[in-house]
This record gives sequence, structure tokens and C-alpha cells, in this order.
Amino acid sequence: MKIQVVQNVLRANDAIAAASREHFNKLGLPVLNFISAPGSGKTALLERTLECLKAKRCAVLVGDLATSRDAERLGRHCENVVQINTGKGCHLDAAQIEAGLKNIPVDQLDWLFIENVGNMVCPVDFDLGEHGKVALISTVEGEDKPVKYPTLFQKATCVVLTKVDLAAVSGFDRDQFYRELRQVNSDVPVIEVSSRTGENFDAWLAWLEQFRLAVRQP
Ligand code: MG
Ligand code: ZN
Repeated sequence: MKIQVVQNVLRANDAIAAASREHFNKLGLPVLNFISAPGSGKTALLERTLECLKAKRCAVLVGDLATSRDAERLGRHCENVVQINTGKGCHLDAAQIEAGLKNIPVDQLDWLFIENVGNMVCPVDFDLGEHGKVALISTVEGEDKPVKYPTLFQKATCVVLTKVDLAAVSGFDRDQFYRELRQVNSDVPVIEVSSRTGENFDAWLAWLEQFRLAVRQP
């Protein structure tokens, strides 16, 4: 009985997400869903990304249980930022995305970024109508996250390894990270960045541009 309830929730979510994706496709608007544990650096990555994409028109929907702190940070770099407070909800769902876009000029955008609630588990199961999921893991949180939370890394379109400027001090085992990541996903691209220093942002921005063009010209 309980399983049936969960299935119904996911089915209702998927229907809304499918309609959103169709809308995004018509507009040629690329949408990425950023998922990670709290503190991996989703907001910091987006802050520097927005700064680098100044020439492009961007919007961000950001989910947190409480506060508008992330939206305030992102709002310094972008006009179209909406904070979605989920209360006790540990993920964003497609209806929240639909509602969050009500006052965003989606037909005038080059990019829509969604920063999910910090959580490596259930955000993966809720389709938001995005074209890709970006999984973040930072060098300070443990190289074994891919094997502990395999679903996120299996479904990721891109993995961003953040805080590489802290890899040496945190004793991050890069070999173990790659070996175990490849056990759960043999070919997902991995981009190593520091949002603080800007290290390797060229590679990240190049990946984004290639992704944007692929969505615009399927
Ligand atoms: Mg955040
Ligand atoms: Zn959840």
C-alpha cells in the first residue's frame, strides 16, 4: 500500500516534469539540475558561473528548507533568482519548479539553473523537466561518496569535483575517487574546479556551452 502511494507521487511529478521539458525544448532553453550534499559548493559554483556568463541571460531557482540566503548570494550576479523554501521537504519537485517560473521571462533566457535542496538521495528521483543533472562532490567530504550514493552518480550528466584548492590539505585520495566513480559510471565527464580561485573554470564553461548548443540544436 505504501509503495503504491510513492508510485503515485512520482507519476504525478513525472507528468508535470514532462510538460515542463516539452516547454523548455520548444524554447530551446537548456535546464540543468544541480544536486549534492549540503556544503559541496552548489551556490558557490553557480555564483562564479553566473559571473562568467554575464553575456548570457540566466535564471536560477534555488531550493532550501529555509532562508533566502542562497538567493541573495545568487541575486548579486543575476536578475532572475527565485528562492523556493520547501519547509520540511528534502527535495524540489516539478510543481515547485513550475510555480517558481511564474514570474521569470523564460522565453528570453539562455540558461535555467536549478540548485536543488542539499541532499544526495531523493532529489535524484524527482524529475524537474531538466535536460541534465550535475552531481557535485567536494574534495573535503570524502572520496567514497560515489559508491555510497551510487544512484546520483549513475544518473549524473556531469560530475563536478569542487574545492580542488583544498584537495591537498584534506588528504583527498584522487585515485580512489576515480576508481570508485568508474565502478558506478564508466563514462560520465568529470570536471575539477575551485569556485574560490576559479581554477579550471575554462573547462567547466566549455562543457556548459557544448551542452547548451546540444539542447538548442537537438
Ligand atoms: Mg546552496
Ligand atoms: Zn526528499
